Amino acid sequence: MTAPSVLIVGESLAGTTAARELRTLGHAGPVTVIGAEGHGAYSRPPLSKAVLRGPGADDSLVQDIDGLEIGIVRSAAIAADLSRRTVITTDGREFRYDALIIATGAEARRLAEPGQRGELVLRTLDDARLLRSRLEAAASAIVVGAGFLGMEVASACAARGIPVCIVDIDRPLERLLGGYLSAAITARAEAYGIQCVRTSGLAMLTGDPVHGVTLPGGTELTADLVVTCAGETPCTGWLAGTGLADELGVGIDHTCATLVPGVFAAGDVTYLRADDSGPDRRAPFWSNAVAQGKVAAASVLGLPPAGPPHDDYFWTEVAGLTLKVVGPLPLTAGPTAVEGRMGEGRALLTWKHPDGRSTVVAYGMRKSVTALRVRALGQSVSTL
Ligand SMILES: Cc1cc2nc3c(=O)[nH]c(=O)nc-3n(C[C@H](O)[C@H](O)[C@H](O)COP(=O)(O)OP(=O)(O)OC[C@H]3O[C@@H](n4cnc5c(N)ncnc54)[C@H](O)[C@@H]3O)c2cc1C
Repeated sequence: MTAPSVLIVGESLAGTTAARELRTLGHAGPVTVIGAEGHGAYSRPPLSKAVLRGPGADDSLVQDIDGLEIGIVRSAAIAADLSRRTVITTDGREFRYDALIIATGAEARRLAEPGQRGELVLRTLDDARLLRSRLEAAASAIVVGAGFLGMEVASACAARGIPVCIVDIDRPLERLLGGYLSAAITARAEAYGIQCVRTSGLAMLTGDPVHGVTLPGGTELTADLVVTCAGETPCTGWLAGTGLADELGVGIDHTCATLVPGVFAAGDVTYLRADDSGPDRRAPFWSNAVAQGKVAAASVLGLPPAGPPHDDYFWTEVAGLTLKVVGPLPLTAGPTAVEGRMGEGRALLTWKHPDGRSTVVAYGMRKSVTALRVRALGQSVSTL
């Protein structure tokens, strides 16, 4: 029997991880990756960190899959025909597959009205370069959305000495990390030069080109640049008519299988369908994209996945501080244990959840991810 041909749509973290894993697992058949971006695959987390600081980091982002005999097509997929097992790209080519892995990730959610120009977002390398060049000339900034991405962008502004105001309905990072960490991070962010503004509803972008926001109640804020960090939307337009996608993305099970035989999905484009372990859930983080890329590759080959399609490690850098988190999110209430000193930006915190699992957070404290994983499993971290 000849080895199946595998088509991966999306040349980024989940897609290249799947491609690499197919070869690691011994798949000798054809593998083709279709990618929409001319840059090829690159790592996104540095875009809101080192890349905003200066151009020095741009060359270290590449995630290549050279030497693995993988065909690369740089043209966006625009349609899929699941009954004929084909995908069509913008340049008019048609690609047949035996197995398809959907890894098209997500794009930034925008708040601008149709036709309103000048909204800045941060999802791609091009977005990051544009934002970096705008930061060089800006005397003031507004960031809409105080999740991890918004806080990283606001931190980049403050680190350059640009007065920055971050606007959200919730407190900074509260949705993900809960009230205790949010309060500590807010205090630290304000001392770092970030003004945190809480609103009672959605902020509206004003001006064309955009030069500010109007808050519910009528308060108007203006700035040289306005960056929207209001979440992401799964890239599923090219799957129209296939029934594979809904507003949450492409639903998968624990083997990364969709509801259509031979079609798998991985990364930010997906959500895990409701099952005994919980409701439908999206988790658009780096370590999940890696875990799902590996699981999807194993499933394509009919092999049992080596691990689950999720990984509960997450990190961010806010106001000069690195936070590493291992364990279930979101967090609620206060930690059950604190070692170190929050005020000095160096602490190790533990949350024990009612189901017996733990979440461990290194708040500015240098700890390896392995050490945090061991800690989350209830063992000592001091020797690691
Ligand atoms: C600025 C930024 C900072 C981040 N920081 C962190 C962090 O600190 N920690 C963390 O855990 N996570 C972070 N993340 C999230 C993490 O980067 C993502 O979870 C990860 O990139 C998801 O990988 P992916 O391969 O699923 O999707 P993506 O990285 O979105 O890649 C999908 C690829 O598919 C391509 N594509 C889309 N549509 C098509 C089409 N029709 N045809 C062909 N190709 C297509 C896209 O162009 C893209 O290249 C960050 C994300 C961003 C944007």
